Amino acid sequence: MNAHPPSSPNHHLQTIAEREQKLLASYATFSSQTKGRKYAEPDHPYRGPFQRDRDRIIHSSAFRRLNGKMQVFTGEMGDYHRTRLTHTHEVASIARTIGRALRLNEDLIEALALFHDIGHPPFGHAGEDALNLCLEAEGGFSHNQYALTIAEELEIRDGPHPGLNLSREVLEGQATRVEKDKQTVPPLLEVQVVEAADSITYDAHDTDDAVKLELVTLEELAEVSLIQHCLERIGSRFHELAPNIQRRAIVHELIDIQVSHVLQAAETFLQKSNWQDPDETFRIGPVEQLAQQKKELEQFLKSRVYHHPHLLETREIAQQRLQAMFQGYQERVDLLPTRFQERAENIGLPRSVGDYLASMTDRYCNQQFSQFFANRSEG
Ligand code: MG
Repeated sequence: MNAHPPSSPNHHLQTIAEREQKLLASYATFSSQTKGRKYAEPDHPYRGPFQRDRDRIIHSSAFRRLNGKMQVFTGEMGDYHRTRLTHTHEVASIARTIGRALRLNEDLIEALALFHDIGHPPFGHAGEDALNLCLEAEGGFSHNQYALTIAEELEIRDGPHPGLNLSREVLEGQATRVEKDKQTVPPLLEVQVVEAADSITYDAHDTDDAVKLELVTLEELAEVSLIQHCLERIGSRFHELAPNIQRRAIVHELIDIQVSHVLQAAETFLQKSNWQDPDETFRIGPVEQLAQQKKELEQFLKSRVYHHPHLLETREIAQQRLQAMFQGYQERVDLLPTRFQERAENIGLPRSVGDYLASMTDRYCNQQFSQFFANRSEG
């Protein structure tokens, strides 16, 4: 019964290939078929290539800094709401649930999910917009593109090569996020799962955080059809709930409804192909009615939460600070860490300053601003 000869050093361990052969569907991305890494490396005795990618991402300094980067709400607003790091973990968890049900490669999904927002600058989308404007003449700034810069140039590991030397599947998957409209070939199904999970996650947790922070009320939210649907389901299970329990129940329902819908839609497609390779029209994500309902919820969040006066004020301050620092560091190159000074010689000073600013946490950015540049925009 033992597939390995006793002389094999790993005869008592299941290999990645054996495990994937048993668990994955034919349409999944198998580790044995990986396109490899830029700098070739020998196989690891007990971790597959995508597990190694996940580990490199988790152990990177850029990943740890996600803890100090805002998702939508800043640290001063409290400690209940999501940070960029907890958002990332929620995406990974939901993506793995979908991926496991569809028998896709969970290791690849986990690596992609943990990586997907690693390039976010301080102050969320406000920070990204500010950097994009600062770097307009240099081709702009995109957090999705910057994730690739982190992975290929900025992170320091052991060994002679720069960056994390991730598998091509992870880098190419991230690259599809940079120019979403320009895709000619559909991304790997594992990439599509992470994309769907990201959207499911932020729709649910931004709703939760916005109510908790009292930017909107449960009554106002109930205007949205997807929330009404959640409330109907909650009503069929419980008679009456305290508002703070109801808020949590809505999050639960929002995730469950969306994940179930995505899985049902996928199942319908996959059944047609008898769970073999589906035809090329197959896409993972919400279809028709749910897509419409999500759009309505996202529109509500945009107008009532993301554009809330309280957030617009934060946005304004963050942008002024980043702009002042972008100019300030170019005038005081000596304030840049040595490696960013050296990097400026290769990629130009503005881009190197942008890369440095993008690497900062919200707190560090504020601290550097106060220490060196506060007189510039607020003095
Ligand atoms: Mg995200």
